[in-house]
Amino acid sequence: MCGIVGVTGTDKTLSILIDGLKKLEYRGYDSAGVYVNDNAGNDYLVKRPGRISNLEAALTDDVHGLSGIGHTRWATHGEPNEANAHPQCSQDNRFYLVHNGVIENYAQLKKEYLSGVHFTSQTDTEVIVQLVDKFVVDNHMDTEAAMLKVLRLISPDSSYAFVMIDREDPETLYVAKNKSPLLVGLGDGYNMVGS
Ligand code: GLU
Repeated sequence: MCGIVGVTGTDKTLSILIDGLKKLEYRGYDSAGVYVNDNAGNDYLVKRPGRISNLEAALTDDVHGLSGIGHTRWATHGEPNEANAHPQCSQDNRFYLVHNGVIENYAQLKKEYLSGVHFTSQTDTEVIVQLVDKFVVDNHMDTEAAMLKVLRLISPDSSYAFVMIDREDPETLYVAKNKSPLLVGLGDGYNMVGS
């Protein structure tokens, strides 16, 4: 388990995410990533194996947003490479999710619900974001209901702190936790979550 930061409501989102991830660096990690969305049709997903400085070096000047999520990963499922770094996203690039912890029944969920889905990582985390997407797209559920349904399917021995963004409503951060730490901070003009 390593670090999570989420921000919504400020044009300083990207720098707050990076500063926050650096504060969590002491815990150790193997890769890092951010997703930011400017709520005007532009979004950016940047992930790198190795140090946060590698991630910073990959952030071109155009990367900006009013909301976003950041993650430092301590790999449990899949090697520490760019594809397995978080945020993980759904196959239609609509949902972006960061996760600290372990989903114990991810293989069973993948087999039962996601047989036709194209996966790009080996992580347990990707199963969760693909599952939310499936319930929204195939079952016409709203995002919160889909997330709640997924939470009920996750075995209780699993650990997670989740922060998710729906590209179609990027100012909302969807958060959930079990065993892994996650705090919600209500600020002046903007709000944050952090592990
Ligand atoms: N189980 C997830 C993975 O391997 C999250 C690991 C973490 O807590 O950083 O990608």
